[in-house]
Amino acid sequence: ERHFRELSITDQLTGVYNSRYLHRQLQEELSRSSRSGQVFSICMLDLDNFKNVNDQYGHLAGDDVLQFFANIIKENLRKQDRAFRFGGEEFLILLPDTTTQSAFVVAERIRESLVLRQHFLDTGVKPVTVSIGITEYKEGDQETTLVGRADNALYSAKAAGKNCTIISA
Ligand code: C2E
Ligand code: C2E
Repeated sequence: ERHFRELSITDQLTGVYNSRYLHRQLQEELSRSSRSGQVFSICMLDLDNFKNVNDQYGHLAGDDVLQFFANIIKENLRKQDRAFRFGGEEFLILLPDTTTQSAFVVAERIRESLVLRQHFLDTGVKPVTVSIGITEYKEGDQETTLVGRADNALYSAKAAGKNCTIISA
């Protein structure tokens, strides 16, 4: 029974939680914070140059990169922090009881870890790096507004040249 439950909330390729479970967790976190006013943060992470890997080395190599990166995320998170596969090469981290300043520490640790361990990824051409956008809960937030702000910050990180972390204004 436990096995079934884990399958239904886990992304099979990477072992982090799936986007269906993210939706449930965000709803829970939002209703908790709308009552308590307690802060939480989310980080949106998108791998840079991932399309190059898929195009040049095929989807199996792409899958390896996704697994490699998911492991880096998992190793760098506290037990109460949760990671989700948002879609394709995009991940989201939910950090309960955490401000954007603290989330920035976590995000940078993950980003730098990918840079430092790049040599394990034999993908040639451009290095695979990650761009990250961060935001925290604001009163009245819905899932779409919250995730939208993180997405905008991620877009700014891409526009600023990638391989960096930006906190939503
Ligand atoms: P954990 O809290 O589940 O954290 C898991 C991993 O996330 C840590 O493995 C570390 O790689 C990263 N991490 C979490 N919080 C921080 C942080 O504030 N700064 C940095 N640089 N990395 C962080 P690690 O370091 O091997 O720790 C394993 C476990 O040992 C932690 O699991 C936690 O239960 C405990 N622990 C380690 N150091 C401390 C500490 O300074 N204070 C407390 N209260 N517990 C600690
Ligand atoms: P630090 O690594 O520079 O982290 C500074 C602050 O960023 C932490 O303060 C915390 O507010 C936030 N932060 C860092 N990592 C995480 C994380 O994985 N998840 C969340 N939710 N927040 C995070 P804090 O808790 O007072 O810790 C102070 C310092 O104690 C940390 O500075 C680090 O040097 C050490 N530390 C605490 N826990 C751990 C741990 O599990 N592993 C390691 N290696 N160091 C830890």
